[in-house]
Amino acid sequence: MRYPAFTGDEPCTQFNPDMYYPNPTEANEREYKAVRALCRECPMQVECLEWAVHHERYGNWGGCTMREIETIRIQRRIRLTDASFSLYAYQQREAS
Ligand code: SF4
Repeated sequence: MRYPAFTGDEPCTQFNPDMYYPNPTEANEREYKAVRALCRECPMQVECLEWAVHHERYGNWGGCTMREIETIRIQRRIRLTDASFSLYAYQQREAS
């Protein structure tokens, strides 16, 4: 799976990154609602969520919290490995 072709104009780029990478102990429902509302307007939502389901371990992606993404993984029987983690994928892209 290729990294989504984000343009840099996605709604999340206009806001505080902490909304997308909340401290789990501080995360609250109001922040999640704000993220969901922004992501619903984003043309990259499907690609973003699909990427996260297969490659991300932290943050909110595609309008979903990481807990929701983990639920999707369980339903679809997807297991993340070190090789699927995005940092690893990024390093491999940079090295090639
Ligand atoms: S769907 Fe992804 S790219 Fe779009 S605003 Fe949400 S987090 Fe950003």
